[in-house]
Amino acid sequence: MTITAIRNATVVTLDEHDTVLPGATVVLDGPTVVEIAPADTVPSIAATTVVDAGGGLLHPGLVNAHTHLAMTLFRGYADDRSLQDFLDRLLPAESRVLSADHVRTGSRLAHAELLRAGCTSALDMYWWPEVSLDESVHSGLRLHTGPIFIGFDGPDATPFSTRLERAHEAGPTPWVFAHGTYTMDPAQLREVGALATELGARFHIHASENRAEVDDVRTRFGRTPIELLDDAGMLRPGTVLAHAVVLDDDEITRLAETGTAVAHCPGSNMKLASGVCRVPELHAAGVTVGLGTDGPSSSNDLDMYAAMRTAALVHKGMRLDPTVLPATAVLRMATIDGARALGIDHLVGSIEVGKRADLVLLDPASPSLNPVFEAHSTIVYSASRADVTDVWVDGHRVVEDRRCTTIDVAAAVHEARMEALRIDP
Ligand SMILES: [Zn+2]
Repeated sequence: MTITAIRNATVVTLDEHDTVLPGATVVLDGPTVVEIAPADTVPSIAATTVVDAGGGLLHPGLVNAHTHLAMTLFRGYADDRSLQDFLDRLLPAESRVLSADHVRTGSRLAHAELLRAGCTSALDMYWWPEVSLDESVHSGLRLHTGPIFIGFDGPDATPFSTRLERAHEAGPTPWVFAHGTYTMDPAQLREVGALATELGARFHIHASENRAEVDDVRTRFGRTPIELLDDAGMLRPGTVLAHAVVLDDDEITRLAETGTAVAHCPGSNMKLASGVCRVPELHAAGVTVGLGTDGPSSSNDLDMYAAMRTAALVHKGMRLDPTVLPATAVLRMATIDGARALGIDHLVGSIEVGKRADLVLLDPASPSLNPVFEAHSTIVYSASRADVTDVWVDGHRVVEDRRCTTIDVAAAVHEARMEALRIDP
C-alpha cells in the first residue's frame, strides 16, 4: 500500500473545533488519513511518497449537495429568465436530444470540471443515472445518484409506472430522486416515497424553489410543497430538499423536527430570481444545510468556491448584517454539513484521522491567497477554483499540478462541443 505524506500544509480540518494546523503533515495510507502530525514533529509512519505543500491551504474536498451534472451540455442555453421560463425552454430540448451517450459526454465534462475545482463529492439528479455513475468509476468523483421520477414520461420516454416497476425490480439503491411536487401528483409522490422506504434509500427533491411554484402547487393540490412532502412521510432523516427558498416559520420548524436537510443553491436562486433561502433561520432551528451549484444550465458552472462566496455575501447584503453566515459557517456548509446532508459525514467532509482522504491543496504562491490571517476567510472570500493545484479522492491523486489525472480533459471538451452541435440554438 502506498503511504503518502503531504508535508508543510496549512491543514484546515473542519473538525468539530474548526482546527487549523499550520505547517502540518497529513499521512495517507491508501484511501485513509492515518496521521496528522503538527508542525515541527515527525510523523510516526514512514511515507513512500512525499508531497511538499509549500505551506499551502489543505482543506477537505468540497461537497456539491445539489446538481444535474450532464446539464453541462446545456450551459448557457436558457439564461436570464425565470425558473418556469427556463424549464419551458429546457425540458423540450432535453426531450429532443437526450440519450445515454449525451449524458455520458455531459457527465464526463462535469466530472473534469468538478475535480479540477476541488469538488470531490456530488449529489447528481439526472436521467440515465447509471451512466454518470459509470463515469465516476473512471473519474474518481465520489458520486451519489439513483433513479429519478417525474410525473410525465421524461426524456428517456419511460412512463412513470414503468419507471417505478423497474426501480422496484432493480432493488437497493443509495438514493431515490423525485423532480418536484409540481411535476408529479401527490399519489405519485407517495409511491416514490414508498419506494425509497422499501429500498432503504435516501431521498432528494426540488422543493419550494420560488413563489410561483408554491402558488401553483397550492392551487392544484391545496397544500404547499413542504406540506405535501410531510403528508407523504418524506420529511425525515435522509431527505435532502434542494432550494427550499419559500419557507414559512412553521415549515422551518417542521424541517428541524423531522431531521430533513436542505441544499442551498444561492447562485441558481439569484440567477433565476427565485429569491434567497432563509439559511440563518434554518441554522438557528438546527436544520443541516449543505451547499450546491444546481445544474450548469441554471447556474452555468460547477464552481463551489463561487457558491461559497455567493452564500457568504447574499445573506449579508439582503439583511444589512455583516455577521450572518460567517466564513467558517459557509465553509462548513460546503464540506462537513454537505457531507452530513448526504449521510457521508462519517467518511468525508473534514480532515481527521480515520476518515477518507478527500483533500484539496491550494496554490501557496497565488497572489490572491496571500497573506493569510484566517484560513477559513481566505478560502471563502479570496480563493477561486483557479487556485486548486492538487486534489485527492479516497487517497487517489485525481488532480496533480492542475492536471486531471483520470480524465482526458481535451477529449472531453471536444466531445462536448460535438454533442452540443446536436442541440438547436
Ligand atoms: Zn436542480
